[in-house]
Amino acid sequence: MILPIYNAFHPILKTKTKQVQNIDEEILSLVDNMFETMHFAEGIGLAANQVGASLSLLIVGDIFDENEKLLHPKKAYINPEILSFGEEVDEFNEGCLSVPELREVVVRPTEIQLRYYDINGKEHNETANGLLARVLQHEIDHLNGILFFERISPIRRTLIQNKLKKIKKGLIVPDYPMVLPDGTLTKVHSSEIKV
Ligand code: ZN
Repeated sequence: MILPIYNAFHPILKTKTKQVQNIDEEILSLVDNMFETMHFAEGIGLAANQVGASLSLLIVGDIFDENEKLLHPKKAYINPEILSFGEEVDEFNEGCLSVPELREVVVRPTEIQLRYYDINGKEHNETANGLLARVLQHEIDHLNGILFFERISPIRRTLIQNKLKKIKKGLIVPDYPMVLPDGTLTKVHSSEIKV
């Protein structure tokens, strides 16, 4: 089921999510719906609060290398926690499904040490780097109520104020269903829904 994605200015995206207590049918169904929603919206990562579930859960899509070899198959991360950051940083032009039509350069560490549970409840302690580390940091920020445009330079932040206001008011909307800050759902033309 394709779920509507919450606009970045909806209060749920400024609220720290709660830990998942049991990986039950409800969680597994949420994970399935999140993958379907992410593919429909053509994203590479999605946090549960972006689809209205204030839970510490995120998904990352398939990540390929430059030769289109699958580096990291799509995966759900439950109660993820960054244990440490590498010293090196790089820049990347990030976007976000909750912030339509905005891309901004964000500086982040290139490597993280991460602990999480998979959908079978198995604990993992892993090092992530490259695009995977980038996506995980963006999504874990969501789980903590942090948006990517809060991590850009103050000058850039000032320059995009008007655009952010338009996004907040629902004057810039994506071609997937979105819940606006006041709770209204944007209308998506039925012919645009790919089933
Ligand atoms: Zn995002």
